[in-house]
This record gives sequence, C-alpha cells and structure tokens, in this order.
Amino acid sequence: MVLPIYVYGHDALRDDTERVSENSEALQSLIDDMIETMYNASGIGLAAPQVGRSERLFVVDLTPMADEMAKAGEPLPPQPMVCINPELVAESDATSDMEEGCLSIPDVREAVSRPERIRLRYRDRAFEKQEIEAGHMLARVLQHERDHLDGVLFTDYLSSFRKRLLRRPLRAMVRGTVTADYPLVTKDGERVPAQ
Ligand code: ZN
Repeated sequence: MVLPIYVYGHDALRDDTERVSENSEALQSLIDDMIETMYNASGIGLAAPQVGRSERLFVVDLTPMADEMAKAGEPLPPQPMVCINPELVAESDATSDMEEGCLSIPDVREAVSRPERIRLRYRDRAFEKQEIEAGHMLARVLQHERDHLDGVLFTDYLSSFRKRLLRRPLRAMVRGTVTADYPLVTKDGERVPAQ
C-alpha cells in the first residue's frame, strides 16, 4: 500500500522515535508499505517518520545509482536494504559535498557536507544483525535516512545564508501550499493527492 509522505513542517518529522524490539507481521507489513511508497515516489530512501511512524527504521534502494557507484569502485549490496535500529559506529574524518533532496521536502536540492565513509550497524528485515562499511552515495543516503530517526533534516545543515534563500519554498510547505507526483500529508494533517 502506498502511504502518503509527511511534508516539511509536520511534527512527525521531528518527533522522538523508538527502537524496534522484535520482528512481527505488523513490522513486515510496514516495511512492504515503505518500500512501495519509496518506489512510487521514485525515491532512493525513506524513513519511518516520513510516513508518520515512530519506529527506528528506514529503507533504501540505490539501484538507480548502481552505475555511478561502480564507477567510483564502491560495492553496492543487494537492494533494497532495510535498516532497523541503525547505529553509526564509525565515520571518516574526510568529508565530501553532495547534493541532496528529500521526499518530505519536494523540489528542494542543496549540497550538504558529510563524512565520506561510515560503518553502520543495524538489523535487516529478517531481524538479523548486520554491519556495513559504506562510501560514496550509499554512505550519503544511509546518513540522511538515519538522521530522520533523530528528527534531523538535510536542510538543518545548511548555512544561514542558504536557509534564507530557501525561506519562501519552506514556508509555503509549512502553510500547506505544496504538491508532488506522490501523495502528501501537510503540517495540518491535510491529505494532498498526487498531482
Ligand atoms: Zn529525507
């Protein structure tokens, strides 16, 4: 089932999240819905708060970036990936700038500086413990999605100058003046069908 994606300004994106304590049918069903929702929106990552949920869980699928990753000599594990209770266990001192977007912030893209490489510990959808070392786009997306579980959005990292330039589109989103080619929920809980 395709779920509506909560837009910038909605409290769900900033609320506390909770560790997932065990595997369950409900969890598997949520994972299926999140993957379907991500594909429907042509996204490469989606975190539970973006569909109004409080589980510490996100899904990613970097298949569209596979060529770029291969060119950079970065292995891409089988996709999609499901990361439950993810923990960042290491990050490189070296950082890089890459443009990011977010399904909760339609039509906004900005360069963000982040550690180039990370190690992430998590449970996969079979609830097995996993640890991965990631670089390039995968490191980028894993950090972006994990941030969502702490209520952090990529726009939080922008300089006050860049933020000022984005004030108008972000305010419009908070007011509910927003559309996308996938269904949304605005700050006030209003549903906006896919346009
Ligand atoms: Zn995002």
